[in-house]
Amino acid sequence: MATPHHDHDSGEGLLSVEEAREKVLSQIEPLQPLELPLTDAYGCVLAKDVVAQRDLPEFASSAMDGYAVRSSEVRDATQASPVELRVVGRALIGQRPEGTVGGGEAFQIATGAPIPAGADTVVPIENVEVRGNVVRILFGTDEGKHIRRAGEDVKSGDALVNSGRRLQAPELALLATAGVWHPLVRPRARVVVLSTGDELIPPFQTPEFGQVRDSNAYSLFGAIREAGAAPILAGIVRDDVDSLKDVVLSHLGQADVLVSSGGVSVGERDVVKAAFYRRGEFDFFRVAMQPGMPQGFGHIEGKPYFGLPGNPVSVFVSFEVFIRPSLMKMMGRRNLFRPEITARLADDVTGPKGKTQFARVRVKRTTREGWVATPTGGRGSNLIATVSRANGLALIPPGVATARAGSDVRVILFRSMEE
Ligand code: AMP
Ligand code: MG
Repeated sequence: MATPHHDHDSGEGLLSVEEAREKVLSQIEPLQPLELPLTDAYGCVLAKDVVAQRDLPEFASSAMDGYAVRSSEVRDATQASPVELRVVGRALIGQRPEGTVGGGEAFQIATGAPIPAGADTVVPIENVEVRGNVVRILFGTDEGKHIRRAGEDVKSGDALVNSGRRLQAPELALLATAGVWHPLVRPRARVVVLSTGDELIPPFQTPEFGQVRDSNAYSLFGAIREAGAAPILAGIVRDDVDSLKDVVLSHLGQADVLVSSGGVSVGERDVVKAAFYRRGEFDFFRVAMQPGMPQGFGHIEGKPYFGLPGNPVSVFVSFEVFIRPSLMKMMGRRNLFRPEITARLADDVTGPKGKTQFARVRVKRTTREGWVATPTGGRGSNLIATVSRANGLALIPPGVATARAGSDVRVILFRSMEE
């Protein structure tokens, strides 16, 4: 076949994936931190160390139902010669105990109740007999036993949660315990998503001949959510420069980032290119990758804008390669990239020789061969079902036209293994 302008298998004159990603990431800044209530801060990265202002727990309490006593008095107690103590008070949960445990005395105490002054141990209820006002201790307990000490979890002045830590369930619990209910975090990036194309219709409409249902908006919605960011679907925009500019400008106020799909190739109808090419801060470039070769990236009124190609698999892969790490950087994540494994290919994979191919694979851990990657279908960038069947993207590097069955490949895992 004649290739007058561009040989689609050659990587000549294209940016490498690493160069292109670096070019994008170097222009992405972390979002300004905000104080958010705990439930909104969930999943966000803490922007400032939180130091414990008090001991955790704040007061010593009993870990058992029983009797708060002085350990020195009960040390030698046995079933044969029990120690008898007078019950002079009750320590109740949620209340400051009144009085002191003196010589020959005990307080009845409930689990979680504060330890009364004078007592240094708790004898569990199973180890006593009660006779009216007198408790007979049948087994002594050592000092400190069955007492949850003040500060045994965290000491006042110690770090509670460090800056850079992503707030998940345990951190929310810790912050709530310490009364930090508006931690300073990097907020979720709000990502405005638009789909360009005269052929596009929403998924609830029945296509006329040649029309295509907009799937990219939903693919991006899921990917953005899954990254911990907040998608805002701005709908379908026709291949018309003024309409696109209008929609983009009208959404800038609610966007930290904008993403559009379609319209970045070389065709005349390539509306994103036509709308933003001249705006100085915007660049269109070709990356030595398949799928996802044409990319647009720049800033519009200071907001990063990703112009992705239109094919559904290109959108998925471009998101993984460029947008996901960018969102992670904006949200202050320490780890921008997905986990990778090395896996053995179960079948040959043929791709464009000069480019990195992102081949959709299903990886599985086997006892005999370790990780094995099975391709889920053809390389066409319109074949979205191949992504749905996959849990990984195998990287077939430039210079390799066919990666052979049995050879080792790097695989980016885009689902957790239990899914
Ligand atoms: P483009 O990059 O605009 O030339 O689009 C490339 C291909 O992707 C065309 O076949 C489009 O119909 C298809 N496409 C573009 N946008 C979408 C979308 N939002 N959902 C599904 N397919 C799309
Ligand atoms: Mg288009």
